[in-house]
Amino acid sequence: MNTPILMLALGATALPAAHAGQQTIARAGEQASQSGPEAYFTGRVRIDPVWPAEGGIPASGGLVTFEPGARSAWHTHPAGQRLVVSSGVGLVQEWGKPVQVIRPGDVVWCPPGVKHWHGAALGIAMTHLAVTGTMDGRNVAWMEKVDDAQYNAH
Ligand code: MN
Repeated sequence: MNTPILMLALGATALPAAHAGQQTIARAGEQASQSGPEAYFTGRVRIDPVWPAEGGIPASGGLVTFEPGARSAWHTHPAGQRLVVSSGVGLVQEWGKPVQVIRPGDVVWCPPGVKHWHGAALGIAMTHLAVTGTMDGRNVAWMEKVDDAQYNAH
């Protein structure tokens, strides 16, 4: 039983320098909240950064809170995105497909290059964790806004 432990210890010392850093804790409150830019969002949206795309994991994390009726513009992600709904009731739509309701605990996978939007339901706010892959330094390509007819088509 000792041999596997010894091998793990040796393996740890052999890790490349890029993976040999110290453990760190980003304390709550160290990263300022941001407003979703008017050019890319409809309604009031708050973005709370959680982690950047670094440290060998090429995906960032952010908590995004949409006020009732608020939503992103249409967009794509070059390396895909996962959305984990944490509170409220939300909506998500892939281009050419019906609007779908999303609720806390739901996990949405947005494949690379697939046009979509996400946001809150009409009368209810929604918060999701967005885990967004980065490719060549970019993680989103913004398109036109979601108009009221598109938003209300559900
Ligand atoms: Mn997205």
